[in-house]
Amino acid sequence: MRPARLKRQVSAGGVVFRRDADGIKVILVSVKDGSVWTLPKGLIEKGEPPDVAAVREVQEETGLEGRIVDGLGTISYWYFLKDENTKYHKTVHFYLMEYAGGTTEDHDWEVNEASWFRIDDALKMVKYKGDREVLERARERLLTGDAK
Ligand code: ATP
Repeated sequence: MRPARLKRQVSAGGVVFRRDADGIKVILVSVKDGSVWTLPKGLIEKGEPPDVAAVREVQEETGLEGRIVDGLGTISYWYFLKDENTKYHKTVHFYLMEYAGGTTEDHDWEVNEASWFRIDDALKMVKYKGDREVLERARERLLTGDAK
């Protein structure tokens, strides 16, 4: 068998939050026919700054406008695409974003659904460890008041 090729990908995404009487709510998107809840994100375009890409991707996937209040660092993971015989190393830059308008009804057709969840529920729903780590960072910033 041919050895797999290696490629890098860099994406950007966000934890969009709002506060209401129930506490802190965040947005997750449902992908893979509804089997996976994850944070909205997408590939950074050539020459595009990661924060600009994050706001654009959040808007495209969820229909919502987010105003960045803080960086949440990066996560990385590997995945393999059999058809391309390629191993991808992906890095995703995440930002904490305050909800600034729009409706989830305008979510992208590429995701099944975009929904608000209480942050503690979102932490239990996400499938990937990286998403959980990013949500934990967001929760800490929001609860300690480090972010507005
Ligand atoms: P993007 O949203 O950046 O345009 P994509 O939808 O093309 O990317 P990914 O979401 O990176 O692709 O998914 C590619 C593979 O990686 C899938 O098999 C997916 O299950 C897996 N994957 C996605 N996010 C994570 C993660 N945070 N940790 C581990 N594996 C992940």
